[in-house]
Amino acid sequence: MGLKTFKGGVHPFEGKELAKDQPIKEVKPEGELVYPVSQHIGAPANPVVSVGDAVLRGQLIAEAGGFVSSPIYASVSGTVKAIEPRRVAVGDMVKSIVIENDGEYREAEFHPCDNVEGLSREEIITKVKDAGVVGMGGAGFPTHVKLSPKEPEKIEYIIANCAECEPYLTADYRRMLENPEELIEGMRIILKLFDKAKGVFGIENNKPDCIAKLTELTRNEPRMEVCALQTKYPQGGERQLIYAVTGRAINSKMLPADAGCIVNNVETILAVYNAVKLGKPVMNRVSTITGDAVNHPGNFLYYIGTNYAELVEAAGGFKSQPEKMISGGPMMGFSMFSLDIPTTKTSSSLLCFLKDEVAEIEPSACINCGRCVEACPEQLIPSRLARMSNNGLADTFEAWHGLECIECGSCSFVCPARRQLAQSIKTMKKQVLAAKRKK
Ligand code: SF4
Ligand code: SF4
Repeated sequence: MGLKTFKGGVHPFEGKELAKDQPIKEVKPEGELVYPVSQHIGAPANPVVSVGDAVLRGQLIAEAGGFVSSPIYASVSGTVKAIEPRRVAVGDMVKSIVIENDGEYREAEFHPCDNVEGLSREEIITKVKDAGVVGMGGAGFPTHVKLSPKEPEKIEYIIANCAECEPYLTADYRRMLENPEELIEGMRIILKLFDKAKGVFGIENNKPDCIAKLTELTRNEPRMEVCALQTKYPQGGERQLIYAVTGRAINSKMLPADAGCIVNNVETILAVYNAVKLGKPVMNRVSTITGDAVNHPGNFLYYIGTNYAELVEAAGGFKSQPEKMISGGPMMGFSMFSLDIPTTKTSSSLLCFLKDEVAEIEPSACINCGRCVEACPEQLIPSRLARMSNNGLADTFEAWHGLECIECGSCSFVCPARRQLAQSIKTMKKQVLAAKRKK
């Protein structure tokens, strides 16, 4: 199969060599663990433990607050120390359950499944739901909702988002190399829900070893294939991936299921495997801790709720204090101002840089070069949308399809005038969506 891709996009510096060859290393936390009750899209979870309660690793500590919500489990054994607001990565204070880790990692009883083949559709979805599986690529959308489309018989593609197109991130890369069997088994479980679907692993061609490994391991799987994708940002954007794999286009008013697709990222599919096959809830995940400020960049399997400072310590600490810290990738992630922040189910990486190169840049006037238009994967006119945003022209912004922006940052990246296009568009998008919700 030739290389597939989407229209537009950019080629940022990859930076993956810093951590890509570092095997996944487990980090056992030493300090307290903090579990915000909102670490998914939808209703916050409701605590089911009280201060002073003893808990086991894998014990339910907060139940889902509705259908679009997700439960939370303790990742260590210990004692509930507090239930109080704590600062999270985006800067908000969120009600959180704080557990004093006893360092013993005593586990609750898990119920592995010997006969996954014999499970019904409902049983699989219930296991995924009860285990607290959400989109672990960053979106945090509850996976049981994604796996329950209105017309399951119309789903033709289950796409594993193995693109990992954000620069510097290598956690999915290591997962594909180190846990390919579990990934394939996770895909097999999801395929059981959709009789007419085939499973496609969409992998950028800057990971030829992953392409080779998964191709080899799926050679006798008639319902699975590996799709090599051109290395280009944002290849892992949901709409871009669907277009690259199937040639089908969706917009902001559609769901992937409307195009016959369901997209899940690598860590999420592994969480489905853990939930259904091993009977284990979401307690751990792999993140990349990297950047030129970090002594030993690498990929770490950590206990969800661990403080970011402990992960930096596991990566050898800082060479010197970074000017810039980003949670997520450099293109779509957000700045962090403290490491005293808990990791959650969606914490895919922490990037720490000695210099804040973006802050040093002074924007100048637009020279109408059109590069932002060429780069936009949604075929928008970012220069114009940003101008509308800056002038508060909400109606015009909407009429020019500003709500279709996926906030990928490609326009800002290519702009020779260094205009903060994506930022302006994102701000106006937020305002328009808030006004719509009010109506
Ligand atoms: S306008 Fe939005 S979708 Fe288009 S390049 Fe900019 S951030 Fe990406
Ligand atoms: S890339 Fe920058 S300078 Fe070029 S048209 Fe877009 S906003 Fe203007």
